[in-house]
Amino acid sequence: MIEIENVHKSFGALEVLKGINLTVDKGEVVSVIGGSGSGKSTLLTCINGLEPINSGRILVDGIEVHAKTTDLNKLRRKIGIVFQQFNAFPHLTVLENVTLAPRKVKGLSRQEAEEIAVKHLTHVGLAEKLNVYPGRLSGGQQQRMAIARALAMSPDYMLFDEVTSALDPQLVGEVLDTLKMLADEGMTMICVTHEMSFARDVSNRVAFFHKGVMAEIGPPEQIFGNAQHEETRKFLSSVR
Ligand code: ADP
Ligand code: MG
Repeated sequence: MIEIENVHKSFGALEVLKGINLTVDKGEVVSVIGGSGSGKSTLLTCINGLEPINSGRILVDGIEVHAKTTDLNKLRRKIGIVFQQFNAFPHLTVLENVTLAPRKVKGLSRQEAEEIAVKHLTHVGLAEKLNVYPGRLSGGQQQRMAIARALAMSPDYMLFDEVTSALDPQLVGEVLDTLKMLADEGMTMICVTHEMSFARDVSNRVAFFHKGVMAEIGPPEQIFGNAQHEETRKFLSSVR
């Protein structure tokens, strides 16, 4: 599980996380919603140790992410992360993009890595695209490839940062369907999202961030049906 305890994080004088507390259990799907600049992306980058924190602690399976003794490379293999902007290697095929990290980081043979990659690419609906270059894929296909690439490292947790925000509207559904499939299979996920219907229908809990504070967290029925905080209601009426 992921345990976030009283985490404070600043960029210079700007405090962007002001004492965040959140525990995500195995198999749980937590959606994170909130306005631009409220600290959602920063939280994800702190969880996998891409960013240092100022105080508090984050534990992943009991291992303290920011402890000096923690092997971050090893820890990060547990945590897949997919961003809004897709960053494929354009000169590598889809299959090569997905096998790269398992071969280089995990030391798998080409054959082992390809078996795993084909399994995950098939799972996200890209079995026909193994040998094409990323530039030939649609945005939705590129994001599904990014998800397959993360899954190929066999992570225990997946972090998604607005993975549909850069997509044309007609491509959003296929990526959300892929996320839903993972959720149904029991993957533990934190999804920063602007897709309120996804947050409502797929998550176990929804966290609303406002100015660096987790202003409210609860089951979707509470957040979307009976929000306790004025700011949550304001935000929801602004995005609907
Ligand atoms: P969100 O994802 O909710 O839109 P972010 O976590 O990206 O918000 O950003 C929170 C605040 O931190 C914003 O004011 C943003 O400008 C600032 N910020 C994010 N990353 C950096 C950085 N690397 N250096 C300085 N400020 C940053
Ligand atoms: Mg963000």
